[in-house]
Amino acid sequence: MSTASDPKTKIVATLGPASSSREVLREMLTHGVDVCRLNFSHGNYDFYREVIATIRSLNQELGINTAILADLQGPKLRVGEMANGPIELKEGGELVITTEPVKGVPGLVSTSYAQFPQDVKAGEIVLLDDGKLRLEVKHTDGRQRVATTVLSGGLLSSNKGINLPYTKVSLPCLTPKDLQDLSFALSQRVDWVGLSFVRSARDIIELKHRIRAEGGLARVVAKIEKPEAIQEIDEIIREADALMVARGDLGVELPMEQVPLLQKDIIKRCLRHNRPVIVATQMMESMIQNSTPTRAEVNDVANAVLDHADAVMLSAETSVGKYPVEVVKAMNRILVEMESSEEMYNVTEPPLDKSDRMVSDTICMASVRMAAAIDIKAIVTMTHSGYTAFKISSMRPKAHIFAFTSNRRILTMLNLVWGVRAEYYDKTVSTDHTIADIKHILRSKNLVGKGDLVANIASMPIAEQGMANMIRLSAV
Ligand code: PEP
Repeated sequence: MSTASDPKTKIVATLGPASSSREVLREMLTHGVDVCRLNFSHGNYDFYREVIATIRSLNQELGINTAILADLQGPKLRVGEMANGPIELKEGGELVITTEPVKGVPGLVSTSYAQFPQDVKAGEIVLLDDGKLRLEVKHTDGRQRVATTVLSGGLLSSNKGINLPYTKVSLPCLTPKDLQDLSFALSQRVDWVGLSFVRSARDIIELKHRIRAEGGLARVVAKIEKPEAIQEIDEIIREADALMVARGDLGVELPMEQVPLLQKDIIKRCLRHNRPVIVATQMMESMIQNSTPTRAEVNDVANAVLDHADAVMLSAETSVGKYPVEVVKAMNRILVEMESSEEMYNVTEPPLDKSDRMVSDTICMASVRMAAAIDIKAIVTMTHSGYTAFKISSMRPKAHIFAFTSNRRILTMLNLVWGVRAEYYDKTVSTDHTIADIKHILRSKNLVGKGDLVANIASMPIAEQGMANMIRLSAV
């Protein structure tokens, strides 16, 4: 359960049959999961509805604020069904990919991606099954059939993914399935919506527009897994509310050896723009089957923490793996250990420019500097939108970050953000009263001790809920 001594780096866990029961989920939340991810590539609405109700009921029972991330599938390309089990692709042989709805046989498979023959050109590369199989386009008839030569062969089974690293895919970022899933997710008031295969900042703008049009308040996670997104990364960071380094598809679409430096670069850029960033995929992969991780996996999680990721993510490890609770415990232990390193803290001071936010940005920066200089135990911000909590977090203070808010919608949303713990608070008697009251609440929950220094950030006059414009330092 969430306490002030919890690791500051957050854990995102994908839910599935292995982790949807109340008992297993309770254990996972108790041992460190901060965000539950629903992967809309799998599952059905009855499953999501039930598991969302369980998360909310456990939040009540345990007094925690677990966030919910609905991850839309996006324009994921796939081959169709095979007629008689997997087919073999032989190096140098031919494979025709057709948009006709036929069952796959040796030499011929289908895809539901109708524009495929129009979008690809001779000489382009087609990757199947996470890049395990590699084809080169020989010829397209521009209507229905694409003939390819097999460069790297192997077995191809039904519904495996297609990646086209060099092709301009004409599909929209939000497919008809995504739009339906989005409406469902918004009706369930999820905190975050993940957008897969983002190619440009326009994709994020369109999704936000649709969220607003449906009266939703969910924030958007841009999943970075396409080379086009890397070309436009700063614009995407500006439009999105958070990012995910989706290393699975990213390492297929780009040479996989480029992913480690991209991970570091994306995180650095996100810190400068105070956007939370999740590092995802294959972090503890071997724990799908085994009760302990490999040493290399431990290093991978540890390095993502040292890179300053806000959150690390579990996928199949928790959705279908044999050890959904053990993997969370193991990940949590790594986070706790890494956070004993001074390298974790006070990493960046975002540039202060003369924007509307200049006053509150300066206040946030001052609080983090003060915390570093005189060992402040907690920075407490009063926030309606959550902005100051994101800002303070992006500078990675060693002090706890508590966000007090009367806006129930951000209580759970903030659980993705590094180091932030949110508390509901709706009294607006006076600034003096609020600060004294909040210190009392923190003390009674054992989140600070007698004599600890606390920096309170707020807006005066307090009842107006304006932008932060004051900082007050005092002892408990
Ligand atoms: C990934 O490719 O790393 C990823 C997180 O995507 P998916 O939603 O397909 O798991």
